[in-house]
Amino acid sequence: MTSYDIAVRGAGAVGRSLALALSRQGLSVALLEAAPRQPQGPDVRTYALNAQAVGLLRGLKVWDALPADAATAVSEMLVHGDAHDSQLEFSAWSQCVDALAWIVDAQALDEALATAVRFAPHVTALPADTPVQAPLSALCEGKHSAAREALGIGFHTKPYGHTAVAARLVADRPHEGVARQWFRSPDILALLPFDRPRQGCSYGLVWSMPTERAQAMQALPDAEFEAALNEACGAAAGHLALSGPRVGWPLQLSRAERVCGPGWVLVGDAAHVVHPLSGQGLNLGLGDVEALARVIAERESWRPLSDEKLLRRYARARAVPTLAMQQLTDGLLHLFEHDTPVLRELRNRGLNLVNQLTPLKRWLAGRALGT
Ligand SMILES: Cc1cc2nc3c(=O)[nH]c(=O)nc-3n(C[C@H](O)[C@H](O)[C@H](O)COP(=O)(O)OP(=O)(O)OC[C@H]3O[C@@H](n4cnc5c(N)ncnc54)[C@H](O)[C@@H]3O)c2cc1C
Repeated sequence: MTSYDIAVRGAGAVGRSLALALSRQGLSVALLEAAPRQPQGPDVRTYALNAQAVGLLRGLKVWDALPADAATAVSEMLVHGDAHDSQLEFSAWSQCVDALAWIVDAQALDEALATAVRFAPHVTALPADTPVQAPLSALCEGKHSAAREALGIGFHTKPYGHTAVAARLVADRPHEGVARQWFRSPDILALLPFDRPRQGCSYGLVWSMPTERAQAMQALPDAEFEAALNEACGAAAGHLALSGPRVGWPLQLSRAERVCGPGWVLVGDAAHVVHPLSGQGLNLGLGDVEALARVIAERESWRPLSDEKLLRRYARARAVPTLAMQQLTDGLLHLFEHDTPVLRELRNRGLNLVNQLTPLKRWLAGRALGT
């Protein structure tokens, strides 16, 4: 059996980023990949990535390898409530940053990471069932991690009973870098400005709603789905048309009861899952990668990689950011869950009030930006 310093189990965006980050420290990494599921269509999602995640990917030489039209800067974000005059606005200009976020093609990011892994000097990609020996296993298998289950680690899960319908759209009006989100109980709809397939006029759609309705919406003919979508967006982004398939993701909130033990750590969705309303799941996972790589780089020379004391430093570093993001997304969901006239009025007034409170707005934007 071949020996490595670290076995990274799972080759999603988090596993590949971790393998690259560790290989840059000269550590030998076995990257254990599951066989691709058949048939598998393209990933239609676009990810909103924050400055911290982009910084990590840039350091791994992945970000600058993305095709120019695969990442779009968001200069402004508009959050709409139930009433037409309730709105919260964020801008890169008022936050004094280059961009509020970058919208990235999930498929292109996967491909750029896979290419970087192929050329990484100390990473060996192997089929998942290859027996390997390593003092540390980083489990990056996503929310259904079998290795986490085999270790007997509980994964506290609250299913939301909602499904996110994702798709690519083209508009008849330029997006001008503006992201839009509607909180209309029980739906949450996000339009993320993008440049594929049409430069300057495309969006990534993430529309979450109760699962039964999501299934019905997915089954609608394109024209009927587009009519419902345009009605929900009220022409704010121009007329929107589908440019590809719709794919649904059931949504949940999950947290592993422990993220490390002797010789193992959980990273990314294997450790925590959040609702995509704030576009933070992968940002959290890449934050895990950064923290684990740092803890390993800064370890005492005599301390073995399997030492639980070492791995607890990683667990401590990630506890607060993970909990804070889970509470923020879950709290927002609860706020928009019930649809009584009183609550609706309060929510809409709240949005307008926050919009006028510059320090609070800055703080909220800072959390999302990862600054
Ligand atoms: C609709 C939607 C929109 C989203 N939008 C955003 C966004 O805008 N911004 C953001 O930051 N996040 C977003 N997310 C969250 C983001 O998609 C996830 O947080 C992220 O993909 C998790 O990456 P991961 O590598 O941890 O897990 P995964 O992507 O699930 O990858 C896990 C990998 O492990 C492999 N695997 C599984 N089992 C095994 C095994 N036994 N052995 C070996 N390999 C195995 C799988 O094949 C897969 O390749 C969104 C999620 C959804 C559903």
